[in-house]
Amino acid sequence: MIKTCALVGNQNSGKTLLFNHLTGLNQKVGNWPGVTVDRKDGVIRGTDISITDLPGIYSLSPYTSEEEISRQFIVNDKPDLIINIIDSTSIERALYLTTQLIELGIPVIAVLNMQDILSKKGLAIDVKKLESILGIKCVSISALKKTGIKELINTIKNFNNTRVRENKIFNKEIESLVSEIEKEIDNDIFEKRFAAIKIFERDKRYYNKYYAEKFNEKIELIEREEKLDSEEIIAGARYDYIEKIRDVVVTKTKKNNVNLTAKADKILLNKWFAIPIFLIIMVLIYLLSVGLVGGATVNIVDILFNGGDTIEFPLPWAAYEVSLGDGITGLGPLLADSITNAGGSAWAASLVADGVVAGVGAVLNFVPQIMILFLLLSLLETSGYMGRVTFLFDRLFKKLGMSGQSLIPFIVGTGCSVPAIMGSRTIENKNEHQMTVTLTPFMPCSAKLPIISCFVGGIFGANWLVTAGMYILAIVVIVLSGFILNKFFVKNKSTSYIQELPNYHIPSASYVLQDVGSKTWAFIKRAGTIIFLCSIVVWVLLNVNYQFQYVENVDESLLADIGRSISWIFAPMLGMNFSWGASVSAIQGLVAKEQVVSSMEIITAVGEGGNVFGGNGMFSFFNGFSAMGYMIFTLFSAPCFGAIGAMKRELNNGHDFWRAILFQTGLAWLLASLVGIWGALL
Ligand code: GDP
Ligand code: MG
Repeated sequence: MIKTCALVGNQNSGKTLLFNHLTGLNQKVGNWPGVTVDRKDGVIRGTDISITDLPGIYSLSPYTSEEEISRQFIVNDKPDLIINIIDSTSIERALYLTTQLIELGIPVIAVLNMQDILSKKGLAIDVKKLESILGIKCVSISALKKTGIKELINTIKNFNNTRVRENKIFNKEIESLVSEIEKEIDNDIFEKRFAAIKIFERDKRYYNKYYAEKFNEKIELIEREEKLDSEEIIAGARYDYIEKIRDVVVTKTKKNNVNLTAKADKILLNKWFAIPIFLIIMVLIYLLSVGLVGGATVNIVDILFNGGDTIEFPLPWAAYEVSLGDGITGLGPLLADSITNAGGSAWAASLVADGVVAGVGAVLNFVPQIMILFLLLSLLETSGYMGRVTFLFDRLFKKLGMSGQSLIPFIVGTGCSVPAIMGSRTIENKNEHQMTVTLTPFMPCSAKLPIISCFVGGIFGANWLVTAGMYILAIVVIVLSGFILNKFFVKNKSTSYIQELPNYHIPSASYVLQDVGSKTWAFIKRAGTIIFLCSIVVWVLLNVNYQFQYVENVDESLLADIGRSISWIFAPMLGMNFSWGASVSAIQGLVAKEQVVSSMEIITAVGEGGNVFGGNGMFSFFNGFSAMGYMIFTLFSAPCFGAIGAMKRELNNGHDFWRAILFQTGLAWLLASLVGIWGALL
């Protein structure tokens, strides 16, 4: 009887989809202890069998943290059964993992997924033959069309074959050395054959002095004969073995006349068109999500929460206004009124309206556009297009210490850095992941747009070239930072590996909707909690003085005191002018970047007669250089607390985290100060 099993497979093999079918709603999502890799546990429908979804991997040689996690889980938790899901349309890549799983000595069921595509391509896999070669049970399914799932569950339920047959896949000489090593392995290691092969490969997790003394000479002998190192010998033998299997089990059922994938690739991956097509798609996505939907909804959500009488649609090509007549009071002011009417104090009303409701509203503002962004990207990802584009950009990104997969966080980052940073988790290489997390916040997210449009409108005569220039500057900063950090600070550079491209799929609606739903919810939870807490803290700083008494005027507040004491930091970028208004607004930007603008507006209003911005409002305070400097600082310095929280979670090492924050803020300060000082010297 099977009690526990592990679901193992390559990325994009349909693991998530199968896991959801097998478990229904009986699943728990969490993290592997100590690492930020998703962990899903569930119970197979109609049984007591628990199933754990392991990270998508290509091999059990722990080159990546995912592979290491999977190997450790299997070896330490020793599930009764491994369910190995295979993309039938590329079994060569999948079987590379399967051969290793079998060596662990735990029973394996191979689930041949994507049956629907296989038959569309006019191909079939001889399941009986594959079973007899590998010596394991094989089941054909289509996770998308939900065929074969019941049979699979029954097979798992009734599984009783606990003996695992060894596959002799290496030549006689290696096999006999491997079995010799196997005899020397400790009894508390159950994965004897796996361990023996790893020792032959001199894998440090198993290979030690004892084995070195005993076997190194024999390993070297084989290496000299084959003129390869032992690891390459094993990999080569696996591929030879798999090729032979493929030749006998994959058969043609009918003539494969239209190869859609090849045809589509002729255009989409064309030497000349690929990048222009990609750029056009990205611009369209941006215009649709951040521009159209974002432009239309941010203001509406804001009015619902904070009240107002005019809806503004700052669409990328023009700005429209719709007057609401008497206007809407908004949730915040409504609650504030009822608190005051019920005899509550002014500070309580303000805490609810300006702290709590405004803070939550600041997060929810972004939900509609982010959902559209997720939807479009999910369609591109599941159709197989994104995989090709990341492949296309991989070499370029490698030069910057990142991977082709970094592209997606940068695109999502134009909407919001929080989901962008969370989404970078799929990047396997640790350095590339870290670099992506550090550089993604440089992308102007949609909360930074109000800062740009405020200055571009007020100082630069609404010149759209300045707006476009900020995006170009962001890309230049990302490229230069990546280049410099990679050149001087990254020690173990990863080499790109050629990955087989997946076929195009028609995206499944239910899958895409589920994907969008879970990502949106994750965003709301993550950004919501942090921004909520920080809004309250900043509200307190803004509304009490150093004696902790409630104050009505911003310039008497604790935050103003803090602003005054750190205004020297901002002086260089402001053309050597000191202004607590600018520093307080920059601090507010840490809660949510769009608050930089509203904070400056509030401070201008109360500062009249005072000299916050020189007495004449902020636009007479700034000139072109100081406006540019201040804009650069607020755009490129440490992101909002929501994104900082996401960075902290991804870079689970405190040292890496602080280094990233310091790098961002230091670079932003330097660039901004250079611009400001340049202006002051002219
Ligand atoms: P994972 O990366 O292994 O978790 O794979 P997913 O479950 O996310 O699936 C990757 C993509 O393959 C999704 O777009 C699925 O809709 C698609 N997919 C999964 N199984 C099948 C299948 O049996 N047939 C087809 N046509 N598509 C599938
Ligand atoms: Mg998945």
